[in-house]
Amino acid sequence: MTDTFEGRHALVVGLGKSGVAAAALLRAQGATVVGADDAKVTFKGEVRPVTPAALYGVDILVASPGLSPALPIFSEARSRGLQILAEVELASRFIEEPILGVTGTNGKSTTTALCGHLLEAAGLRVFTGGNLGNALSNRVVEGKTLDVTVCELSSYQLEGIDQLRCASATVLNVTPDHLDRYPSLDAYAAAKARIFENQRQGDSAVINLADARVAALQTKPGVRRRTFDPRGPAQADGAWPVKSKIRVGAALLDLTAPTLRGAHNVENALAACLLARHLGVGAEALQRGLDTYPGLPHRLEPVRILGGVEWINDSKATNVDSVEKSLTAFEGGVVLILGGRGKGAPYAPLRELIRKRVKALLTIGEDAGRIAAELSGTAPLTACGDLVTAVAKARELARASDTVLLSPACASYDQFKNFEDRGDQFKALVRRLA
Ligand code: ADP
Repeated sequence: MTDTFEGRHALVVGLGKSGVAAAALLRAQGATVVGADDAKVTFKGEVRPVTPAALYGVDILVASPGLSPALPIFSEARSRGLQILAEVELASRFIEEPILGVTGTNGKSTTTALCGHLLEAAGLRVFTGGNLGNALSNRVVEGKTLDVTVCELSSYQLEGIDQLRCASATVLNVTPDHLDRYPSLDAYAAAKARIFENQRQGDSAVINLADARVAALQTKPGVRRRTFDPRGPAQADGAWPVKSKIRVGAALLDLTAPTLRGAHNVENALAACLLARHLGVGAEALQRGLDTYPGLPHRLEPVRILGGVEWINDSKATNVDSVEKSLTAFEGGVVLILGGRGKGAPYAPLRELIRKRVKALLTIGEDAGRIAAELSGTAPLTACGDLVTAVAKARELARASDTVLLSPACASYDQFKNFEDRGDQFKALVRRLA
């Protein structure tokens, strides 16, 4: 804990959850804090517009990950030689227990939450957060003594780190995303690779061999590379699936929790187990944790079984790729609710899976017409318009042992506030069914 913020004048740029948490941390450390945001926000203290004028009287900036480093306020701050810290960087300077870091294009939240749960199953005192809801600064403000912190890190957050060090870290996968912010896929992968940058002798890097970009990432000398491979055997002290089980080092573990269905969750479980093993979590605790993982809302979330029909909320599946992953979790008999605000990507990659596993397609939202056109001939389709109608129709069509799956492949903004709102409304409708 070498940094002192006593008497400093800090500006927190971007007053979302992490910005507000950073402000609380800075104040607790004796700094004077003002905020900057262009939207109307609730913030205890002065709020300035996000322009270089906001730098008046300021000697340190905390930048929220959502804001582009190219904004004039940051270039001006750099040219004045002001210290600029990312919220996670700031928080990490006050954290003494080991940090386990998780990044990747997909599966970050699941892997982070699962890893935290595995560590808790082993009796460790854990903070789980970061990009996943609870900002890292909150861990510092809470001020408890803990054994380990598990932190989800987005590429935006990683761009802003400087000393943040992960005792063990994983890059789950790197696929095209956020290419509006990055000039190329390589630049995006390089931001993710920064999670390994400050590692030292004795730390470990958890590497997905099935992702060529990840497998090629460099790690620091003395850092142990623990590999996993969702396709089959990796190195002996790594992890891989064996039929419906997973091997983690010498242990053979069951993976049967309904919250961890689907091929993508095999990948997430392999990574989470290897991270937990860095802190010595044994086979028994891993198994207990895997069996009792409660899951995250809106990701293949079991809602209800009614007359032998299982209803599942997968509202977080806002793109075609995610729906592809989710459908692999079911053998057949799926009534699939699709649609919303389309993202322009083709739906055709779903055709084969739908033909095999889906018995009825129900569409909602703006992109229903395109969906109907691109998926015609795969499964009987009903245009429902809205979610209320789709749920009623699904109730009519589903038979015992079928699954009703809301996995929209689209954004929600045409009919809902966000994907959480869509999922919550779905759950409320399903719970009301008689
Ligand atoms: P993130 O935090 O990276 O957005 P989540 O754990 O919230 O990831 O999962 C979001 C969606 O991404 C899931 O609903 C699923 O469709 C898909 N997904 C999850 N894990 C993986 C993975 N390992 N590989 C590919 N897709 C995944």
